[in-house]
Amino acid sequence: MKKEVVIGLEIHIQLMTKAKMFCHCSTDYIGKEPNTNTCPVCLGLPGSLPVLNKKVLEFAIRTAVALNCEINQVSKFHRKNYFYPDLPKAYQISQYDVPLGIKGYMEISLPESKEKHRIGITRVHTEEDAGKLVHKGDIASSSYSLVDYNRCGIPLAEIVTEPDFRSPEEARIFLVKLRSIVQHLGVCDGNMEEGSMRCDANVSLRDAKSSTLGTKVEIKNMNSFKAVKKALQFEVDRQKKLLAEGIEIIQETRHWDESKSVTISMRSKEEAHDYRYFPEPDLLPLKVDLKMADEIRRNLPELPEARRERFIKNYQIPEYDAEILTSSKALGDFYEKSTSLYSNSKVLSNWIMGELIRYLNENKIEIEDSPISPEKLVGMLKLIDEGIVSGKMAKGIFEKMFKTGKDASKIVKESGITQITDKNELFEVMDRVIKENPRSVEDFNEGKEKALHYLVGQVMRYTKGRAKPDFVFDTIKQRIKKI
Ligand SMILES: [Zn+2]
Repeated sequence: MKKEVVIGLEIHIQLMTKAKMFCHCSTDYIGKEPNTNTCPVCLGLPGSLPVLNKKVLEFAIRTAVALNCEINQVSKFHRKNYFYPDLPKAYQISQYDVPLGIKGYMEISLPESKEKHRIGITRVHTEEDAGKLVHKGDIASSSYSLVDYNRCGIPLAEIVTEPDFRSPEEARIFLVKLRSIVQHLGVCDGNMEEGSMRCDANVSLRDAKSSTLGTKVEIKNMNSFKAVKKALQFEVDRQKKLLAEGIEIIQETRHWDESKSVTISMRSKEEAHDYRYFPEPDLLPLKVDLKMADEIRRNLPELPEARRERFIKNYQIPEYDAEILTSSKALGDFYEKSTSLYSNSKVLSNWIMGELIRYLNENKIEIEDSPISPEKLVGMLKLIDEGIVSGKMAKGIFEKMFKTGKDASKIVKESGITQITDKNELFEVMDRVIKENPRSVEDFNEGKEKALHYLVGQVMRYTKGRAKPDFVFDTIKQRIKKI
């Protein structure tokens, strides 16, 4: 029988507050000496008491309302007990039966259908992060591990979706949009490679007409959008194969091994009762003033969907372009900055979506660190408009700009690669090409339009691409007729 894919996601985002969740330690811990960014509270020393950072609450509410959640006026903190060296208290302060936000949704557009697909958001809650284990050498043969508590107590929001995804690609599209939303909200930088946005997934299969869910497998350790899609596809295929052979699926947690492109069994999946949740006695129930929630809702910044619509309307670009340009906050900002400097917004989107994104991806550089700024891009486009360089030459200049960070005009000056503007010089080359290729001229005179393209190509070859092709095209035609 045909199987239906059922996927649900659990996403942790690191909230960009200045201080940790329950103490005054800084959240700026990356690159710091291990265990220097700690205090008695985040180390869980006896006698220390947690105090909730109000900014954490504000950021979590902002996330929840942007995902159309209802806010619980009173929610609770629970202790989630687990004994692992990265957690000095042996429990994590999290939320359990009464989370901050519930019953939300997010809509995604799938490329093959015009209709929007609604993904249910089960809950949004806050919790603290754990520390990090650093294994000596290779993890399998490591003789000992070191622990760094700098990350302990960093605030997280956990977003849990309903099992509403029917393919790995839908899950990927959702994640790209979610990242753009949290970036626009200013609550998380959304960097999956660095771990400030982490995604786990539950994957199961069921008979196409059945309403009961199959046994689910949890997948962890997917560190990029690409990895999410690959890992989920691998897991779907693995389960399909087992079921086809009549082998039962075991409920377990599997780890995505990026280098081998496989999921590997880690452990049988914990149930909630394994964590011995109980209400956190050191914190009062979390009361949310509904006025505060309303105010946050009213003051939400422009979100990617609205921004996309505005791009289509204001800059007259196709929906496809607007979708890509708003897929990250920084990319949208780059585009808008460019449009403030240059009026042809479609030319801008072509260059950004084409050359710029390609070079950034190839070199694994984020748009924030792009060696080509909006000013530099526009500087190059103006050289094309002024006829100093051709569009084709500009591609080479763009590559040099990307590698060196220099302005287009400086590159042009240094290399002397300008377009030939002296018409007489071009006439000479054209006449030479006409003389050398009597056969093509004859063909053209007999009505073979193709022959003309060949002649133009010859002129471009002699001038090393420095002639303006449309000028050559028009002119060479007239000069043939004169002969
Ligand atoms: Zn601390």
